[in-house]
Amino acid sequence: MKLTVIGAGTVGAGTTYNTAIRDVFDEIVLIDLDEEQAKGEALDISHAISFFSDTEVRQGTYEDAVGSDVVAITAGKPRKEGMSRTDLLEANIEIVDAILGHDFADDTVFITTTNPMDVMNYANAELSSLPRERFIGFGGWLDSARFQYVLSQYLDEPADDIRGYVIGEHGDAQVPVFSQVTVDGDRREIPKEDRKDLVQQMRQSAMDVISRKGGTQWAPTYGMSELITTVATDDRRVFPCSAVLDGEYGHSDLSIGVPVVLGSDGIETIIEWDLEPEERKAFDAAVEKLQGYCDDVDTLV
Ligand code: NAD
Repeated sequence: MKLTVIGAGTVGAGTTYNTAIRDVFDEIVLIDLDEEQAKGEALDISHAISFFSDTEVRQGTYEDAVGSDVVAITAGKPRKEGMSRTDLLEANIEIVDAILGHDFADDTVFITTTNPMDVMNYANAELSSLPRERFIGFGGWLDSARFQYVLSQYLDEPADDIRGYVIGEHGDAQVPVFSQVTVDGDRREIPKEDRKDLVQQMRQSAMDVISRKGGTQWAPTYGMSELITTVATDDRRVFPCSAVLDGEYGHSDLSIGVPVVLGSDGIETIIEWDLEPEERKAFDAAVEKLQGYCDDVDTLV
């Protein structure tokens, strides 16, 4: 099995490390415009895993990426303090466009973090001739992890006993699905009057990290390795991911966060949840926001 990680910055290096320690791939190729950076990260990670993982981690080129089972696209500009993810659209769409111009394999699955991730995932699918199932946008896992963290503080329960999913945009139009929150597997009602404050805390989560250490790394990259290894092992697990819709939830021609089953073909199934009326309204608002950007994709590249 071969994984190619494009972008050896904060997210790309962390994704490579978190995946290499799982010993699932034979080979991980790390590509960056800055070849020395990619070589340094590949060496450091190779040293880290030498006691327990057979994965070969190396800097490479697009020629080395041919035959990749999974390609993780993490290349691009990150946000600075005060920026929204959509501020990155014009700069990053050219980068993903150039990446998609290379040959990988007929059945490669692409997992993208580059922001604004939902629009980038849609652009990737549009710019290629491959089926939409092969394009997974990473963000819902991270938003859900942050939701669970915020809920754990609020409920005074361990975060890993809580399940709470976030769908919608990976951005301000995110939709935490309060109607499905569970603690130890049991439904837990979160009073409506407390939800606004919890949502506000979640929205602030990424900036709380970025303003202090310059970028988020451990949470997104652990999550990326979860998605990547699930695809590689055909594990068929449910994750909130950005997926290109074709009629699901009554919408088409955009990528947005929804619960999906992941497997070796990428998105095996899009699960359509019964949302509460307020959640449905928020989801439709996220659709409207993202549709505007996705409609413009062709004019931007
Ligand atoms: P970073 O600046 O640390 O790394 C980006 C890397 O991309 C750099 O090493 C740069 O040299 C490389 N790069 C730029 N253009 C390239 C190209 N054409 N080909 C190959 N490499 C190229 O940034 P980061 O913190 O790793 O973030 C990467 C992206 O992921 C950003 O867009 C960021 O906003 C996004 N992000 C998304 C999530 C998510 O949950 N979806 C989480 C964190 C970061």
